[in-house]
Amino acid sequence: MPAQATRHRVVVVGGGYAGTLAANRLHMRDDVDVTLVNPRPTFVDRIRLHQFVAGSGEATADYGSLLAAGIQLVVDSATRIDTAARTVRLASGRDLGYDYLIYAVGSTAAVPASMPGAAENAVSMVEWESARRLRDTLAELPPEAPVTVVGGGLTGIETAAELAERGLRITLVCGGMLAPSLSTSTRRSVSRWLSRHGVTVVEAAEVTEVRSDAVVLADGDVRRCAVTIWAAGFGVPELAAASGLRVDEIGRLLTDETLTSVDDDRIVATGDAAAPSGQPLRMSCQAAGPLGAQAADTVLSRIAGTEPAVIDFAFTGACVSLGRRGAVRQFARKDDTAVNVYVGGRIAAAHKELTCKLGLFKIRREAHRPGSVPWPKGGSRPGQPFPGGARAEASS
Ligand SMILES: Cc1cc2nc3c(=O)[nH]c(=O)nc-3n(C[C@H](O)[C@H](O)[C@H](O)COP(=O)(O)OP(=O)(O)OC[C@H]3O[C@@H](n4cnc5c(N)ncnc54)[C@H](O)[C@@H]3O)c2cc1C
Repeated sequence: MPAQATRHRVVVVGGGYAGTLAANRLHMRDDVDVTLVNPRPTFVDRIRLHQFVAGSGEATADYGSLLAAGIQLVVDSATRIDTAARTVRLASGRDLGYDYLIYAVGSTAAVPASMPGAAENAVSMVEWESARRLRDTLAELPPEAPVTVVGGGLTGIETAAELAERGLRITLVCGGMLAPSLSTSTRRSVSRWLSRHGVTVVEAAEVTEVRSDAVVLADGDVRRCAVTIWAAGFGVPELAAASGLRVDEIGRLLTDETLTSVDDDRIVATGDAAAPSGQPLRMSCQAAGPLGAQAADTVLSRIAGTEPAVIDFAFTGACVSLGRRGAVRQFARKDDTAVNVYVGGRIAAAHKELTCKLGLFKIRREAHRPGSVPWPKGGSRPGQPFPGGARAEASS
């Protein structure tokens, strides 16, 4: 009898942009059994969550239309990775064995536990469950109700703009500068749009307390609002740290430049939850897809017994929606630093819609033709792999 061919089990934890694309790309080999673990039976298109909460769009897609045939979707949450046994414990109590694991758990809200009232009174919209709650809350508000958005970065701006277009009275508290990652001229354009649409931008002041009906600023100013939306930064799930793997200061899994865990070469991290060389890329859908592809390539190289390639990715700028009819397309160098060139208005809005559609298009393309998705290359990365000493130790 002919010897049975060895099959390789790969478990992908997290079915976002990075994990779903990685799962599809693994099908470049037909001797790989791929299992994707995700807490929900539908894909969350996070880059549209601000539209979803404002009632101007939907933010889910059917995994059936995204995943290659043969990938097993397990609707569950991983609670611990046992690297010695090579198993993942799920919330349901089930254990999944793996030969390789792709860690793609993405990012979460980062409502500061230390700020008085924030945990109780601020709502985040960067995850599906909280976004759904927020959508329901906002739907019940009277027109022109005051709403505070905390966070002057791109997510805060997109949220403030979307809600302002819906007619709500928005205050955007930046805690420093409006859109610090954009160039001066782009920032001015965003600022003009917000002002024209009635958004009060409080640039320098920081929020020091969140009450059920107000936010308190560092200068003592109390700003009344019906809802406070927290959109200031992202955190990450604690799974890697809880599993005894080394992580960076916010909990991203530490890897070398091939995305391989510094603790275990059977674990490859990707997307927002990865910290290659302790110098993570900007958390973004833009980087998550290419990093998903490169995580799959690293696993495929290890299965083939070849040396995995180091990550090679270049940013191309950012596109920030300003409601449904406006946007700014910021151009940038390959290292993601902005140059003083942007496009605004309806052209940028059309571009933004196209890039949002492209995110899912690329995942579907990888499902039908694994290995076919291209991405921009040549960005700067540290020359050296992450040195032996960890930046932050995981709790065990
Ligand atoms: C409103 C908003 C607008 C944005 N706009 C843009 C934009 O215009 N451009 C851009 O580039 N980026 C944008 N982003 C950022 C972008 O959405 C993220 O960077 C991107 O989702 C990261 O992709 P990912 O695959 O790493 O993680 P995610 O998309 O977060 O997916 C991770 C998945 O893993 C699951 N998961 C988590 N823990 C576990 C567990 N223990 N077990 C199993 N599964 C788990 C999660 O539920 C999720 O389904 C935006 C984000 C938001 C919130």
